[in-house]
Amino acid sequence: MFPEQLTQARIPHAVMTVLGRLQERKYAAFLVGGCVRDLARGVEPKDFDVATSAKPEEVQRSFSKVIPTGVEHGTVTVVIDGMHVEVTTFRAEAGYEDGRRPTQVEFHSDIEADLSRRDFTMNAMAFDPTPGGRFVDPFNGMADLHARLIRCVREPLERFGEDGLRALRAVRFAAVLDFNIEPDTEAAIAPTLPIFKRVAMERVREEFTKLLTAKEAVKGVSLLEKNGLLQAFMPEAVPAPLDALKRSAAQLELRLGLMLAKCANPYDVLMRLRYPIAVAKTVAHWVQHQRLPGLHSTDTDVRRWLSKVGAEHGPAILSLAAALGVDTGALVPQVEAVLASRPPLKTADLALDGKAIMQILSIPPGRRVGELTRALLEHVLELPLENTPEKLTQWLTRAKV
Ligand code: ATP
Ligand code: MG
Repeated sequence: MFPEQLTQARIPHAVMTVLGRLQERKYAAFLVGGCVRDLARGVEPKDFDVATSAKPEEVQRSFSKVIPTGVEHGTVTVVIDGMHVEVTTFRAEAGYEDGRRPTQVEFHSDIEADLSRRDFTMNAMAFDPTPGGRFVDPFNGMADLHARLIRCVREPLERFGEDGLRALRAVRFAAVLDFNIEPDTEAAIAPTLPIFKRVAMERVREEFTKLLTAKEAVKGVSLLEKNGLLQAFMPEAVPAPLDALKRSAAQLELRLGLMLAKCANPYDVLMRLRYPIAVAKTVAHWVQHQRLPGLHSTDTDVRRWLSKVGAEHGPAILSLAAALGVDTGALVPQVEAVLASRPPLKTADLALDGKAIMQILSIPPGRRVGELTRALLEHVLELPLENTPEKLTQWLTRAKV
């Protein structure tokens, strides 16, 4: 029994080669997980994951180019025609004592055992697209997919108790796919929060990033808050700024900025969540420079502001403010126009550097040079056309600065 979308699916040649080669060698091999879900939805999968009865060493022996991605967990990456296909040995996991990651991996010979350890019914389907192949759906994932429902494989309390990340994944999928969480599955989130709190931050961050940049991020964040997940990993963002998220573009730093707009130390929060330093710095910079120039600012005011916050950050800070509901009046086009004229905004943009200043005025290195550089910048922020060596030299020699 094949759902129509699956029979019509176009599978890359490299993937068919991987399946065919393993099956020639008498191993079972199926497409599994996200790619089957996406094919069934008529969406092109981002990547194709294969599950097989072959042990990792046997997979490695079957192909000429193989990367041992995670042999101890049963995963190797097969490279064919430049395409990467992850091939994982059927497995079941045991021993989740710390609610973080399985402590043991058991390899299995049947696909059903492998599917039963997966998180949601829509992610627990297997499909063999080779001639005579099967579609395996022991938990009725296809029906849930059609009903747009996220439902745990087996008992939700037990599954969230094994791996606390699954609760967050349920909400992430709701946001990314615009699905609903089946009531028993959703009801298991709150009672298993103590398990969720022990999950490694890197894993939380990865799911949260997908959720926050999803089209239905508002739905995701409100589900996080409603079920206590947001309070557990980002209490600084409670109450969640849902209206602001609704008004914002799906860009990570911008949405993190909205979540932490009222937080005194967004940098620390994002470092705790293991975001890259560059992300934490950018978001903290935007949040800490939320004050905009006044609504009837002159171009000089706008240049002074851009000089303070950094030209590259100006438009993003305006987007942040606009999403937060601040009236930005005509500032957006004004800032765009000012930036388009490429005015000097920082000391490195000055037509004279410190060395030139010292020569022109015959002064030694020291604090005075710094003061003069700042005075020159202040001068060109007011009059950008003065930023030529001649004009600045004139100004330096005439002005009693
Ligand atoms: P995406 O398209 O966003 O990558 P995905 O379904 O492929 O979605 P992955 O995180 O790449 O999600 O995981 C691949 C598959 O592995 C899932 O479809 C699911 O079957 C299984 N899986 C992933 N994480 C878990 C988990 N924490 N518990 C149980 N099964 C999981
Ligand atoms: Mg995936």
